[in-house]
Amino acid sequence: MPARRTKAVAPAITAPATAAVATRPAPAPKRAAKQLRSLVVLSIVGGLVATAAMPAFAGVLQKEAPVTLQQMAVDDAQSVVVASDAVGTELARESYSATTSDEIAKKKAAEAAAERARQAATVAATQPTTFNVDLNMVAPGSGAVRWPITSYTLTDTYGTRGGAHRGIDLVAPAGTPIYAAAAGVVNVSSEAYYDYGVAITIDHVINGQKVSTLYAHQSYGSRQVVSGQTVQAGQLIGLVGSTGRSTANHLHFEVYVNGSNVDPLAWLNANAG
Ligand SMILES: [Zn+2]
Repeated sequence: MPARRTKAVAPAITAPATAAVATRPAPAPKRAAKQLRSLVVLSIVGGLVATAAMPAFAGVLQKEAPVTLQQMAVDDAQSVVVASDAVGTELARESYSATTSDEIAKKKAAEAAAERARQAATVAATQPTTFNVDLNMVAPGSGAVRWPITSYTLTDTYGTRGGAHRGIDLVAPAGTPIYAAAAGVVNVSSEAYYDYGVAITIDHVINGQKVSTLYAHQSYGSRQVVSGQTVQAGQLIGLVGSTGRSTANHLHFEVYVNGSNVDPLAWLNANAG
């Protein structure tokens, strides 16, 4: 740039009038070259805008047609490429050892492919699974308190992990019905409740005590109740899954009595029937 600038300035010294410069034949190629560079820069910017606009356009199209995993992955990949392009210069200097534009392009393509694969895996993992379950089922028993699931293997008990485990883990196959432990009002009903994943909390009043129960790691799309909804004891509220911070299909169940976290197993043994 400095070398070219010196050459471009030189004719201006002998021809102070701008009009004269424009009519002189010699500088014309240089101006043409500059204009060409400007066009290149503009087309790059234009390309960025066009690419950035594509996901939004694709989003409109998706409303008309069913979204496939492949399409979602492609859309995600486009977003990723845009983000990468937007900071291309910074990345080239700080993150890549590659120096030529070809090498950088290859690195970006590899990065985009890896991100595409990661996104596709994430999308697949969050797809609701279909279970053949009668959602009108009610937990057995006639008491005010019922077991939240009726067939399970108790693995992790209350207070383990140095006291960090605030509930009990009831292992059961994905799709196993989860029942409200007692009548009450749904407080939280979420597909992404922190580490609990798909979770529901219900507030109850049992024997004059304020009790809250929590049902975590349910299957995506399986919740049958919404926040504010009144539920009956034993009503089916969702299905066992392994969402959130979980490595196996199980119900993580917590109980709070008057705001204090208690051992759910002891509470169920004392109250359920
Ligand atoms: Zn647990």
